[in-house]
Amino acid sequence: MISKYNIHKKVIADVIVVGGGTSGVFAAIAAARTGAKTILIEKNSILGGTITAASVNFPGLFFAWGKQIISGPCWEAIEKTIKLGGAEMPKISFKPQKHWQEQIKLNRFIYTAVLFEMCRESGVTLITNSMISAAEESSTGVNLIITEKTGLIEANAKMVIDATGDANLVTIAGYETVKSSAQQPATLQNHISGYDFNKVDTIEIKERIKSAALPEHINADRLISYLRDHKIDMHIPCVDADTSEGKTKLEQKTYTSYIQVYNFLKSIKGLENLNVDFAAEETGVRETARIVGETTVTAEDYITGFMYPDSICYAFYPIDLHVLNGIKQKFHPENTVSKIPYRALIPKGSKYILCAGRCISSDSYANSAVRVQAVCMATGQAAGCAATLAACKGTASNGVSYDELCKSLKAINAIVPEK
Ligand SMILES: Cc1cc2nc3c(=O)[nH]c(=O)nc-3n(C[C@H](O)[C@H](O)[C@H](O)COP(=O)(O)OP(=O)(O)OC[C@H]3O[C@@H](n4cnc5c(N)ncnc54)[C@H](O)[C@@H]3O)c2cc1C
Repeated sequence: MISKYNIHKKVIADVIVVGGGTSGVFAAIAAARTGAKTILIEKNSILGGTITAASVNFPGLFFAWGKQIISGPCWEAIEKTIKLGGAEMPKISFKPQKHWQEQIKLNRFIYTAVLFEMCRESGVTLITNSMISAAEESSTGVNLIITEKTGLIEANAKMVIDATGDANLVTIAGYETVKSSAQQPATLQNHISGYDFNKVDTIEIKERIKSAALPEHINADRLISYLRDHKIDMHIPCVDADTSEGKTKLEQKTYTSYIQVYNFLKSIKGLENLNVDFAAEETGVRETARIVGETTVTAEDYITGFMYPDSICYAFYPIDLHVLNGIKQKFHPENTVSKIPYRALIPKGSKYILCAGRCISSDSYANSAVRVQAVCMATGQAAGCAATLAACKGTASNGVSYDELCKSLKAINAIVPEK
């Protein structure tokens, strides 16, 4: 038994954001820009989360029916990336046929650099290579223990934002979370080369796949269609990747599966010289735990564009539930845009914790849509502004005035749903 814990630093902030990914970076920037002393804790070395580390670098959707619906610091980051040559603006249409074509393909290196620079300019204190290890609400805020490379940090903040994607902080603090009975598969983004698709013996693939020892999700048609795009179809049934044990199992399964398919493909005529020239640093996780919030976004309210009394941002993406061999989708009626209520960011019963990103309170089907990146960024900005208001006024999350929150969001150029 270790008798002495090495708490070698103490930090105090108005707002601490845990998770510097898709949503967390903009939660921290919004909090800092609206006047809070802000610390951002991130387990990886780089910012950006799923966009950068898992290489899902195509955020959607900032536009709906031809009009911009999400703006603010997150849009500033996109514009800065475009200006530096790290992205091109897609054509935005009033009646998009293929919604994913309106996502913005980002160069991961340039986007990461933009995020670091925006955090610096906004005055966010970054602590990377660190994870949250303990969290407890007190009568005035939240006490945290953060594990960094050389020991433990004791931290105290008036407001804390969980932007871990997995509701880790909410779970550690003892608030309720839920998981879908079947979580969506995770995907390893990758790129392969060393062959001419037109010379690949696809008939041999179809014949030999029947007796080959391959992962359960692999089928000939999808494998061939992915080969055409120079990728290996790598969807991994994903359970409990919100824990270290689950994440470890996921990456082990990914790489075991990847090498099985790689070996099989290399034995096919035309693919003898197949080469893996890129694989993301992390397998991209679509879904783990979600908070049980003060209200929950349901699929019905989402797709019909229900206007909540505390709507803090728009959201636009079809319901898009990935199952192992396809996607279950539902599209918005024409000119309908979804909204997200502030209360879906508040873990039920908590006072000083907010949540942003894919783990906001939503049912399984609604979550398959609200988890997209532009929406995660927008909930991050809303959580950041709300946290500053609560911290500065010394109130709990539910004491934040909706009108003041809208005003604060507009001050950082975010778009707030019009009544
Ligand atoms: C394969 C795949 C395809 C997708 N396709 C699309 C698409 O086409 N369009 C789209 O817009 N969206 C897409 N998404 C969804 C979207 O990418 C994610 O839902 C979104 O990026 C999640 O953002 P987040 O901020 O909630 O989490 P993340 O971006 O994952 O950020 C969480 C951050 O918290 C850090 N962290 C985690 N735990 C801790 C801890 N305990 N302590 C400290 N730090 C921690 C992580 O390192 C990470 O940086 C896809 C997702 C996947 C996986």
